[in-house]
Amino acid sequence: MKIVYSDQHQQHDPQQFMVRGRLKRSNEQPERAALLLAAAQSAGHAVVSPDDHGSGPRAAIHTPQYLHFLETAWERWQQLPDASDEVMPNVYPFPGQPATYPDHLVGQAGYHMGDNACSIGRHTWHAAVHSAHVATHAAELLMAGERAVYALCRPPGHHAYPDRANGFCYLNNAAIAAQHLRQRYARVAVLDIDVHHGNGTQGVFWRRADVLTISLHADPHFCTPFFTGHAHERGEAEGLGYNLNIPLAKGTDTDGYLQTLTKALTTLRAYAPGALVVALGLDAHERDPYQALSVSTDGFARITTEIARLGLPTVLVQEGGYLSDDLGPNLASALHGFEAGC
Ligand SMILES: [Zn+2]
Repeated sequence: MKIVYSDQHQQHDPQQFMVRGRLKRSNEQPERAALLLAAAQSAGHAVVSPDDHGSGPRAAIHTPQYLHFLETAWERWQQLPDASDEVMPNVYPFPGQPATYPDHLVGQAGYHMGDNACSIGRHTWHAAVHSAHVATHAAELLMAGERAVYALCRPPGHHAYPDRANGFCYLNNAAIAAQHLRQRYARVAVLDIDVHHGNGTQGVFWRRADVLTISLHADPHFCTPFFTGHAHERGEAEGLGYNLNIPLAKGTDTDGYLQTLTKALTTLRAYAPGALVVALGLDAHERDPYQALSVSTDGFARITTEIARLGLPTVLVQEGGYLSDDLGPNLASALHGFEAGC
């Protein structure tokens, strides 16, 4: 399987991430991509560099106001008195209440940054842009005839909404790939197997029937993002019925996961998409630092084999999965399993 990768993410290294009131270095570190790349290469997969696909693909998903904010926020932040080296919000609009778009950068940060897990440093915009190029390039290779392509995206993207960063994500790579594939296919599906709900992707396609979004994830009753990912969220207007959330109980193992995946794949087959984007998180693993679900390393192969049996042209987009000795083997297992199911 071809792997698309760019080293332009490396200087994006967020130092501030708030967990239960404590600031620490982000879990979403450059070393993740180094481990993933090494594992994919040693499994024999060929690495391709992405072209510059311009601003069109990201502008097809994100608002001009948000893109301008992301591109300029760090430089503007440095001009504020006594500002930290990274942009971080500390004031937010209230849901359902009137909110005027603020002139002041501190207000804009709260408007466009949903939590304290998406700080913006000097190199964040550059890394996010190149991560989106990786996803776009993978979609292009698919449309040129590849059966499956793996996009090694960093930073990840599935939490990013059209106008809001959160959860280590800035530009929604999986949504960008799906939208790009719409040039060729009338219907595209996104299947998110990251341990966290793909809230941003749900938000992007919430009112649309041309992109089916399915997410299997740790139940938001006990796991972030808490506010979304519940089974009753089905989409709105034309999109009603085209969003499927499948929350899983804490500690669900590989067998339990596969039983639930069957339900997702039945929905996917009935939709009959022309192409598939898999938001490939590896953080459902039993030894991932998040400790929410208990999928084994071999379990990732069993999961991706079932997905490959759909027979669809597929882009696998890297999402979460955090530093542990298992991260590389988990990716190798997922890619091997997909090829075994083709
Ligand atoms: Zn995740």
